Amino acid sequence: MNCKYCGSELLSNSNFCVKCEKNNIESDIKETKTKSKVLQQQHLNFFLLINNSFIELFTMRIIRIIM
Ligand SMILES: [Zn+2]
Repeated sequence: MNCKYCGSELLSNSNFCVKCEKNNIESDIKETKTKSKVLQQQHLNFFLLINNSFIELFTMRIIRIIM
């Protein structure tokens, strides 16, 4: 495994780079957090879409009843 930051080879079973003194596992956690945030946003958009179509359907029905 190589360091994500400087590309030098990491010691076996170690995620800490001796050359640039950066922890390679920390960035993995950050990436996963960002990914889950994006997923949450996608879920939110999906629910908003469903909610909007429900409101549309509802108003359409009300209009039909009134007409
Ligand atoms: Zn490094």
